[in-house]
Amino acid sequence: MFKRKGPERAGRSAEALRLESVRRIYGAEGNRVAALDGVSLSLPAGSFTAVMGPSGSGKSTFLHCAAGLDQPTEGRVFVDGQELAGRDETALTRFRREHVGFVFQQFNLLPALTVMQNVTLPLKLAGRRADQDGARAVLERVGLGERLHHRPSELSGGQQQRVAIARALVTRPSVLFGDEPTGALDTRSARAVLALLREAVDVHGQTVVMVTHDPVAASFADAVVFLADGRIVGWMAQPSAEAVAERMTHLSDDLDQAVA
Ligand code: ADP
Ligand code: MG
Repeated sequence: MFKRKGPERAGRSAEALRLESVRRIYGAEGNRVAALDGVSLSLPAGSFTAVMGPSGSGKSTFLHCAAGLDQPTEGRVFVDGQELAGRDETALTRFRREHVGFVFQQFNLLPALTVMQNVTLPLKLAGRRADQDGARAVLERVGLGERLHHRPSELSGGQQQRVAIARALVTRPSVLFGDEPTGALDTRSARAVLALLREAVDVHGQTVVMVTHDPVAASFADAVVFLADGRIVGWMAQPSAEAVAERMTHLSDDLDQAVA
């Protein structure tokens, strides 16, 4: 089962993320694709979940709908106990800034800003005081306390991704979403990033939801959710890399049979 940790901030919901029968249809009439086709799930605060599935199975769409970056066609999404629907774009942006962090495969740092400026930017955008001490503390936590005034181009890929994680954590989001956050990294840098995500959960009681292709990355999570064709087709607690790899092979077999 999931490890549960006490919420870091008072008033935080015990359920970090809830999806109820979420569907996301893309395309116009006659050319519709159900990227998500009735996904329901509940993740407790302080859990680390990996999302896996073949290419095109709806993983990114799932993350975008769960994080309020995209709107489901049907169904309901709750982050930290609060429903995302019924907010205009301004309110949704504000909600995301306060409750959600996002880490992408391609770091997405602003090249003209220093490490420190990249990390304090979300605080400024949220209208919070740019807490230099807080930003420095989170950069020390990711091992970059000596690189505050460097530009992203002066850092390795692994270091840049750790800046992106610091930027995502500095607002203390309820849920940190990662879309293949280790996809562009070498093995050693990937491990360092995964250890940081694990620490966000174990030490800071945050909730992490991470899409990955890599069974080793998935084994850092408390549980794996398997998607195929826009549906949840499996779930595994305390995943080992071997068990996940085995399951992924069968997922592809199942799909091959379904289309044969
Ligand atoms: P994954 O991340 O697992 O590779 P995606 O969520 O990106 O899958 O895509 C799921 C399905 O939805 C795919 O068939 C994809 O082609 C389709 N899709 C995703 N985004 C769009 C879009 N903006 N417009 C049309 N179809 C899309
Ligand atoms: Mg994707």
